[in-house]
Amino acid sequence: MPDVRLVNVTKTFEGGRIVAVDHVNLHVKDGEYFCILGPSGCGKTTLLRLIAGILEPDEGEIYIGGKPMRGVPPEDRDIGFVFQTFALFPHMTAWENVTYGPRVRGWPEDQIERVGREMLELVGLYERADAYPRELSGGMMQRVGLARALATGASLLLLDEPLSALDAKIAFELRYEIRRLVKGLGRTAIHVTHDQAEAMAIADRIAVMRKGRILQVGTPEELYMRPKSIFVAHFIGECNFLEGFVEEVDEEGMLIRLRGDLAIRIMGEKRRRGEKVVVGVRPEVLEVREGAARRSNELPGTVERVMFEGVVTRYEVRLANEDLLVITAPSMMARQLRPGDKVAVVVPHGKAFVFPYPERGLKEELSVE
Ligand code: ADP
Ligand code: MG
Repeated sequence: MPDVRLVNVTKTFEGGRIVAVDHVNLHVKDGEYFCILGPSGCGKTTLLRLIAGILEPDEGEIYIGGKPMRGVPPEDRDIGFVFQTFALFPHMTAWENVTYGPRVRGWPEDQIERVGREMLELVGLYERADAYPRELSGGMMQRVGLARALATGASLLLLDEPLSALDAKIAFELRYEIRRLVKGLGRTAIHVTHDQAEAMAIADRIAVMRKGRILQVGTPEELYMRPKSIFVAHFIGECNFLEGFVEEVDEEGMLIRLRGDLAIRIMGEKRRRGEKVVVGVRPEVLEVREGAARRSNELPGTVERVMFEGVVTRYEVRLANEDLLVITAPSMMARQLRPGDKVAVVVPHGKAFVFPYPERGLKEELSVE
C-alpha cells in the first residue's frame, strides 16, 4: 500500500491569476485515513485532481509509493475515486457499476464475480445487486460508489466530499462505515471535506487548508487542543477571541490586558511585553456563575441569550468591555440563568490560547473565504 508525498506542489489557473494550490508539502502515510479540511474554494478538489493525475502541477512533484508521478496518466496511478455527486453509470445496475473496473481491466470472469460479490456484501448491498441507481437512495448510491472505487483493488482511495450530498443522519452513519471499510482493507485514503465535524470523526490526521495553503497538519486532538493559528482555532470547533496586549511577563506566564480595563492571566505561554495579542478560549472551558466578578480571571458581564441545544446549553454573555463571549455547559449541569442576569465568566488558567495579533486584523483572519 502506498504513501503519498507532495513536495512544493503549486497549481494555478487562468494564466496564474488564480493560485488554487500554493506550495503544498504533505506526507500521507501508508494505510492512513487522511482528511483535507477547508472552506469552499480553498483548493481541495484541485489538490485531489493533482494527486489523481487529472491535472499536472505547475511546480513541485507528487510521489505515490515513492515514485514520481509526473507524466503518469490517471489510469496508471492505482487510484479509486469517490465523488460528491453519485457518479454511478445510470444505465448500469449496482452489480454492473461495481464490476465495471475489473471488467475494463479484463479480469477473468470468476475473479470479477468474486470481487463484485465481496464488495457489494462489504457495503451491505448484495441483495440490491440488480437495482439501477434511480431505484436506490442517496446513501445506497454512495455505498455503491465506494464499492466501485474499492473493487479494482486500488490501494489509494481519493474521496471528494463523498458525504456532502446526503441527509445529515445518513452522512453521519456512513462516515464511520467508510472509515471502517477502508481501514479494514488496509487502503490509504485521502478524503476531502469542508465539514470539520466529519473530518474530526473520520480522520487519523487532518490537514487544514486555506487559500491554497496548508495551515496545520495533525491528529484531530492536536488540532483542537493546540491550534497554531487563529484560523485553525476558529475553523475546528468553536472559539471566542479577545483582543489585548501583554502587560506583564513573569516566570509562570503573563498578564494580558483586554479592552475596557479587564485582565486575564495566562499560564505557560510567554510573549514579548507590550505585544498585541488575541486570546482564544473555547466555549466549553469557560464557566459562568451568578454574581459579581471577584477573583482574578473572572470577567464581569451580563447574560444576553440562553439557548437550550439538547446536550449543551449555550450562554451568550456581554462583557463589561462590550465583547461577547459564548459559553457552553452540559445541559444536565446547566445553571438557571436568564437574560439580564449579572454574571462572572471564569477563564481557567492554562486553557486559553494566545496568538500574535494578525497583520490584516482579526476580522479578516476569521473570514472563511
Ligand atoms: P474546493 O474544492 O476547495 O472548493 P477548488 O479546488 O475547486 O476548491 O478551487 C480552488 C480555486 O481554483 C477556486 O478559486 C476555483 O474557482 C479555482 N478553480 C478550480 N478549477 C478551476 C479551473 N478549471 N479553471 C479556473 N479556475 C479553477
Ligand atoms: Mg471541491
